[in-house]
Amino acid sequence: MPPTISRIVQALEPSATITMATKAKELKAAGRTVYDLSLGEPDFDTPQHICQAAIEAMEAGHTHYTPAGGIPELKQAVVQQYQTAYGLEYAPNQVVVSNGAKHALHNAFTVLLNPGDEVIIPAPYWVSYVELVKLTGAVPVVVQTRQEDDFKLTVEQFRRAVTGRTKLLLLCSPSNPTGSMYTPGELSELADVAIEHDLLVVADEIYERLVYEGHRFASFATVRPGLQERTITVGGVSKTYAMTGWRIGWTISPANVAKAIGGLQSQETSCPSSIGQYAAIAAICGPQECVDVMLAEFARRREFVTRRIAEISGLSCAEMGGAFYAFINISEHLGRSYSGVQIDDSTTWCLELLNKQNVATVMGFAFGTEGYARVSFATSMENLAAAFDRIEAFVV
Ligand code: PMP
Ligand code: GLU
Repeated sequence: MPPTISRIVQALEPSATITMATKAKELKAAGRTVYDLSLGEPDFDTPQHICQAAIEAMEAGHTHYTPAGGIPELKQAVVQQYQTAYGLEYAPNQVVVSNGAKHALHNAFTVLLNPGDEVIIPAPYWVSYVELVKLTGAVPVVVQTRQEDDFKLTVEQFRRAVTGRTKLLLLCSPSNPTGSMYTPGELSELADVAIEHDLLVVADEIYERLVYEGHRFASFATVRPGLQERTITVGGVSKTYAMTGWRIGWTISPANVAKAIGGLQSQETSCPSSIGQYAAIAAICGPQECVDVMLAEFARRREFVTRRIAEISGLSCAEMGGAFYAFINISEHLGRSYSGVQIDDSTTWCLELLNKQNVATVMGFAFGTEGYARVSFATSMENLAAAFDRIEAFVV
């Protein structure tokens, strides 16, 4: 008999983004040309000065355990960045550096949630939120937002979802998977409800720097005085600096939460990678032109993707204010036959698109919203152009 897997892990869904990316890679390895729009990771190399800082860190012998919650210089760099960019005052002991923002989120949920606590998660949500909340025994309360509201949680929806067991609200702006962004006014209305019901807010701001013209990012903790005491801000270097493989992210939280996360992490992983942390300092404190260059290229692709979605009959999407995803409404193309194959849901649609046209996307279902497919435009224009021609050929 094979060993029995724990009940909590048996109930865990593997990450659909990673599953689709793996499928695409397997097909490529088998010799197929695949147009991969599945994974949200910048296709640029990590900028050279950041790699150089990592080499220098290794040469200087920074290849050992660091303090569990990260090295003081990196915590200070993060504090300084939030001070300069958003006017937020934090002490370095409020920052905990983790192995990527995903780990930072997992830590935050683990130290804050008890079984039975409710967490309000607006859908479409990033694939890992629900599963990471479930791992703690807490209950994800998914609230479906609407395309006509730009996929943003309204105050009324938020109020209706709150119960006596609600512990926290999870917000992601700019959003993965929709690209939508809350305005400071919208955030402050949501903040009022959080304050009224004494709720915590986890603000996933990993895409804070990837914001397009005409849109303005507001860090949740800034929109009302006193919010820092109830906000856990999640950030990191993965997306801004094309550093997904370095695994550096962080939480900024009230001091007692940060202390608990540091303690958890000391048992869990000892510390984040020493080399990654030195590279992250170079990223945050070094020249920022590399971010502008990558953002300009993402902006070009966003324009292209927006145009192509509008051109293809029956497809639509909300405006993407930030990040590098389009969440395409495919509902008009469901409930019909594609060369003899009946397609009724986003999962079958995405799998058939991959089978028939070699285009990898991620099913809306995995983000909690049926009738959609997510494409990542963190890939070359050439790849995007070919992929959209194939999507068009698939649906018409
Ligand atoms: N939050 C969101 C919304 C994301 O899209 C991602 C993507 N990976 C993460 C967190 C995790 O980031 P990291 O790679 O730093 O773990
Ligand atoms: N966040 C990226 C995505 O949504 C990377 C994959 C993952 O971490 O799930 O595609």
